[in-house]
Amino acid sequence: MENDLTLVRGRIFNIQRFSIHDGPGVRTIIFLKGCPLRCKWCCNPESQSYKQETIVTAGISKEVARDVTVGEVMQEIEKDRAYYRRSGYGGITLSGGECLWQPEFSEALLREAKERGISTAIETTAFADMNVIRRLLPHIDTVLMDIKHTNSQKHKEFTTRENELILENAKNIAREARTLIIRTPVIPTFNDTREEIAEIAKFACSLEGVTEMHLLPYHRIGSDKYAGLGRKYEMAHISPPSKEHMNELCQVVKSYGLKCLIGG
Ligand code: SF4
Repeated sequence: MENDLTLVRGRIFNIQRFSIHDGPGVRTIIFLKGCPLRCKWCCNPESQSYKQETIVTAGISKEVARDVTVGEVMQEIEKDRAYYRRSGYGGITLSGGECLWQPEFSEALLREAKERGISTAIETTAFADMNVIRRLLPHIDTVLMDIKHTNSQKHKEFTTRENELILENAKNIAREARTLIIRTPVIPTFNDTREEIAEIAKFACSLEGVTEMHLLPYHRIGSDKYAGLGRKYEMAHISPPSKEHMNELCQVVKSYGLKCLIGG
């Protein structure tokens, strides 16, 4: 018989199997709808609004959101359990969108996974009330948290939100989470100078227990989706950073005593 957790409902737009980038081992990524930010470079623009939307791909219209129960998502997750075991320490990762904006669903899904012995991670901006984050933390093994910029005005210019809440929450999450990894999307014209990455690395290494930072190079995958949603992609003129530049930025991060991965 299903328990109460499996009946909790949420809104997602994708479940991606066999990911090796969003947490340790082989992961199943559950993409939730709704995000408080509007990053100009976002490769999942269909994640941003909580509302149902229509996206047109190759002339075919399709609805973006799927309303599901925790039980339905767990059925999908269970198909991948053998792969988690084989990869040693795989599991699920809640992504988005922002999973903290559907706290009941996220908490129930994370709890249910943990009760079944499955490892859990979230990818988050941490732009939420710390009390909401505290509800979820006991059920999370790894928090992958974005720090996009240390300058609040620039953060706002490119994401529509200031960063004070994010930086404050980072300090609390560092103290209270099992494992916190800081991730930074490297976006030319926004944060790709040595100085800007150094500021983020300096902040990351000041966080209790944080030893690792991931640099995620800007890419244009997903830019076509903007047209499909009837929106304009504002970063069309931006080229991805070179490998050499990413390596240089990685050295900057390492100079702060942090382990650095490109891609993550
Ligand atoms: S935080 Fe992530 S999901 Fe939200 S707008 Fe930015 S890139 Fe997109």
